[in-house]
This record gives sequence, structure tokens and C-alpha cells, in this order.
Amino acid sequence: MEIKKGSLRWTDVEIRAAVDAYLDMLEREQSGQKINKAQENRTLRAGALAERNASAVEYRMQNISAVLSQMGRPGIVGYKPAGHAGANVEKIIRERLNEWDNKPNPEDFGPTADDATLERRATQLEKRTIKNPPEGIAKPQQSASSRAMFVRDPAVRAWVRQQAQGICEGCGESAPFLMNGFPFLEVHHVKHLADQGSDRISNAVALCPNCHRRCHHSSDREEFTASLYQKVLRLTRED
Ligand SMILES: [Zn+2]
Ligand SMILES: [Zn+2]
Repeated sequence: MEIKKGSLRWTDVEIRAAVDAYLDMLEREQSGQKINKAQENRTLRAGALAERNASAVEYRMQNISAVLSQMGRPGIVGYKPAGHAGANVEKIIRERLNEWDNKPNPEDFGPTADDATLERRATQLEKRTIKNPPEGIAKPQQSASSRAMFVRDPAVRAWVRQQAQGICEGCGESAPFLMNGFPFLEVHHVKHLADQGSDRISNAVALCPNCHRRCHHSSDREEFTASLYQKVLRLTRED
């Protein structure tokens, strides 16, 4: 049986991508910028919504307007409310709105050597989709404290975990549990910071605790580390 493009039920990932794009446009519209609906539609279909056609994407946007209007919230002027969004769509909109309402503080982007602060900032940043891969830090400095922690970029940690979507980049298994509602994965520097590795997305992977320990302590740590460069295409070897 041939499956017609767009005939399948929308996945959560697709709905979330549509809602994110919508809320992003809404924010820009509300701040007085011009939005190009056709361009946004194409961009979505070049990425997360590759299985959908232009009119399906357009209709989904109108659908999101309908939910917002039911919630008594303003929507994008160009998308007239239409259709009945399912409960799942509404749930995702509510979640994303909630995240939108609590935007990261500029300070959350600040690099830090303190692990608890780094984690708190990365968790804040992860609440919104990070569109552009962060620049990161080519040569992380060691802080003066006796524990000699490295200054790291919270956006690198957040982005790497976001890309992993809850799946360990080492073994391909789901994160073993949730922490603060997010899949628990640890961000490991493939070339260790202590060996002058960078704090950049090209040197960082999201791993389950088992794979993370394996990288540091296992008998096969070198082979396992080498396999990461094969599996995770954004990684580059640093010398
Ligand atoms: Zn793993
Ligand atoms: Zn590590």
C-alpha cells in the first residue's frame, strides 16, 4: 500500500516543531517584525515537517491559532483560526507556551566552572529549542578553585542534550530516567577537558551514565571512544 504524503498521524515531534515555529513567528510579529509565512512553511518542510505538504502545514498553523483563541490568547494575524486540534496538540501548545513564558535569562548563557550552576543554566536553556549550534569554548580555562573545574558553556550542554532527544549517543538506548522532567543524559567531552579538549559541540556527546562511565573507566574505553567518532557525525577529532 502506498502511503500518501502527510496521510499519517502527526507525531509529537512534528507537532512540537509546528508549535515552536508558530510561537517564534508570533513573538516576532508581536515585536513588530514582518513574518514571511511562505518562507516559514518551506523552512519547516525542509526540516522537521518533511513528510507534510504546504497546505497541511498551513492548516496546522490555523489549528494552533484556534487553540490559542480558545485559550483567550492572541495568535498570528495571518493564520485564521480553523479546525479542531486534538487534545495532544493542545497539550503540546500549553507546554510550549509555558516554556515560552519562562524565557531564559541572559545570565543563563554565562559560562561557569561551577557544576551546579552549569547544570541549572543548561536546564533553563533546554526549556526552549536552541536553534543555532552554540559557539562553545575552544580552550576552556581552569578556574582557580582547588577542585580545578573548567569553565564551560551551558548552551553547549543544553544543545547537545536537546539534539540527543533523550537517546544516549553511545548505546542508542533511552535515558534511564527523568530528572526535572527531562531525560537524564550526561554531557561528556570526548577529548577530555583535562587533555585540552574543547567545550564545543564537536567534542561533546550526551551519554547515559553507563556509557559515560565506560568512556572514563572501562577496559575498552579507547575503542568505545573511537566508536563515538563514527556514530556521532558532528564530532571532530582534536589534537
Ligand atoms: Zn548509553
Ligand atoms: Zn566525561
